[in-house]
Amino acid sequence: MAKPSLDGNELKYVTDCIESNWISSQGDYIRKFEEGFSKFCERKYGVATSSGTTALHLALTALGVGPGDEVIVPCLTFVATASVVKHCGAKPVFVDADERTWNIDVNKIEEKITKKTKAIIPVHLYGAPCDMDPIMKIAKKHKLFVIEDAAEAHGAKYKGKKVGSFGDISCFSFFANKIITTGEGGMCVTNNKALVNKIKLYRDHGRVKGYWHPVVGYNYRMTNLQGALGLAQLEEIDHLLIKRRYLSGFYSALLEDVKGITFQNKDYKNVCWMYSVLFKDRKKVEKALKENEIDYRLFFYPLNKLPPYRDGKKYPVAEKLSKHGINLPTFIDITTQDMLKIGYVIEEALK
Ligand SMILES: *Cc1c(COP(=O)(O)O)cnc(C)c1O
Repeated sequence: MAKPSLDGNELKYVTDCIESNWISSQGDYIRKFEEGFSKFCERKYGVATSSGTTALHLALTALGVGPGDEVIVPCLTFVATASVVKHCGAKPVFVDADERTWNIDVNKIEEKITKKTKAIIPVHLYGAPCDMDPIMKIAKKHKLFVIEDAAEAHGAKYKGKKVGSFGDISCFSFFANKIITTGEGGMCVTNNKALVNKIKLYRDHGRVKGYWHPVVGYNYRMTNLQGALGLAQLEEIDHLLIKRRYLSGFYSALLEDVKGITFQNKDYKNVCWMYSVLFKDRKKVEKALKENEIDYRLFFYPLNKLPPYRDGKKYPVAEKLSKHGINLPTFIDITTQDMLKIGYVIEEALK
């Protein structure tokens, strides 16, 4: 399905950490990775974290989201976008997906806003940017924070601006299957120094100095080993992104004439985290992929279907997408032959 590409300076930098003994959460590689990645996102500051999930949790915490608050979350996303809201004691309020883009339906956000709403978390699903202009406008009008969940979209652009450059705080994941990886890891990026200080406070046990802890914090720090991986990956990111655009174009060309297939409408410059399509008859495709030992993933469940997030409401578009969607193998070293075979197997199955 996915595998990381570690062909640059990864081994060299990690070895340097081990040889110099800087293996824990202090060291030059973390700082350089934070500086480099925040610059890549067109932001002033980056704070590296132990995962994308902890980055999101720190973002909400730094913005003061807590019990009694509501946070708007797309119904179709990875569970972490909503679980972090629960971690804060707040309530995730779901918005249905847009049928064309599969991202949060910007026309259905306002009807979900109440006096308790504190923030919106748009997710750039599978690497395709959300329609940020209306989201930012709604947030401004209702005085809400925006936290971009850009865990799947490093380097994607909305109207010429990088994703991650819009939110009060924006969060990335560096899990092994993401666009760049540190094994496990994440980052908050922002332009606001006061928020940086808060994120750093909560990242390190709520510590101000020595053993003085004025707030309840977490240990959500990144290690220098991870920072070393991250810096080496960042050096390769432009090449990795170009390769992903090629993979995406190749798949699209292979599949364009297949009957009963629907593509994600990518209105803005996307990065193809996982090449994803809808099949009218998904069962048939699954069977053929299995028979040919081709790995795949089904789409996320709409979050309201998962026991902790049931809300008694209906999200027909998210449900439909979830029922028909498949993610196909997407990684840098996939061969043209592999993709040709996948395209052929799908085409034959649906003939
Ligand atoms: C991967 C992912 C996360 C969580 O990142 P981890 O690093 O795995 O904790 C959050 N949101 C979305 C949309 C993701 O795809």
